[in-house]
Amino acid sequence: MEKIDILSLTLEELQEKLLQIGEKKYRALQVFQWLHCKKAESFEEMTNISAQTKAALVEKFYINSTKIQKRLVSSIDNTVKYLYALPDGNKVETVLMEYHHGNSICLSTQAGCKMGCKFCASTKAGFVRNLLPSEILLQIYETERDSGRKIDSVVLMGIGEPLDNFDNTVKFLNILSHKDGRNMSLRHVSLSTCGLADKIYALAELKLPLTLSVSLHAPTDEKRSEIMPVNLKYPIKELIKACGDYFRITGRRISFEFSLIKGVNDDMETAKELISLLKPLGVCHVNLIPINEIREGGYQKSGFVSVFQQTLIKGGLNATVRRTLGADIEAACGQLRRDNI
Ligand code: SAH
Repeated sequence: MEKIDILSLTLEELQEKLLQIGEKKYRALQVFQWLHCKKAESFEEMTNISAQTKAALVEKFYINSTKIQKRLVSSIDNTVKYLYALPDGNKVETVLMEYHHGNSICLSTQAGCKMGCKFCASTKAGFVRNLLPSEILLQIYETERDSGRKIDSVVLMGIGEPLDNFDNTVKFLNILSHKDGRNMSLRHVSLSTCGLADKIYALAELKLPLTLSVSLHAPTDEKRSEIMPVNLKYPIKELIKACGDYFRITGRRISFEFSLIKGVNDDMETAKELISLLKPLGVCHVNLIPINEIREGGYQKSGFVSVFQQTLIKGGLNATVRRTLGADIEAACGQLRRDNI
């Protein structure tokens, strides 16, 4: 019998599985707390569990693990970038960042990515597989263990498209925010998507209090399809409608990411088109990202970040520029994995 990945189970699932092997329901709570509050790496450590139950647990379940393959520490701002090796040899990247409001972690949700954004290193080596909920969680637990820092907020902006791994991502969020486990408020979680409109509706139905970030990067189909092939499947009109509906259903404002690329989307005409596109949505926020230049892309940083921002603000949009962290350690996602597969 194949063993079950216990770190990927919600408390309710764990209760059900333990009842099936004749254990009491409260045992599940104890085990869940060991796994997600105390970050136990073995059943042996669970001191309030009897030897007999431990033996039953070992027989039915395994505790997944991940190993640090590389760790790069920025000498500029303390950003740490990890390359984690999963048990099957796949590798993913995780970035730990220090902000004035606390420590934030950027997590991967897939090994590779199939979305094909032209400027993104994560997609260059292709897609291998979805990460399990345990493999998303372990990036947090292992990073906390290694760094000795407590993580206050999570962004799902590493390698992969979280909404393309919908069920595992939602399960990860359920486990992370469970009051009897890690108990992280989903208000401290941002989920970034390249714009899978049907999945935006599915997420809206769950009414989670997280922040949805949509990677827009261009305000017209012509421009967006050129740099983001996903736009051919979910064109801008459909995407923006899904965003408006998401806001109506959840009451949560959306953040739009816009990576400024020299000569592609950094002109004032584009800024005006962006204003016309987003203003009717009401409350939303535009996060301007100076593009991280990757080897394959041929795309360069824009010199107009500040004037682009001012134009959006004058046009009535709320616009900020994302701070660049870990510039000396290739913190842009996908570059470390690509060089180590
Ligand atoms: N698949 C998701 C999450 C991962 S990418 C998404 O597309 O949103 C996280 C963010 O980084 C996205 O906004 C993505 O477009 C952006 N990004 C990817 N490569 C980049 C680069 N080289 N420079 C700047 N931003 C980049």
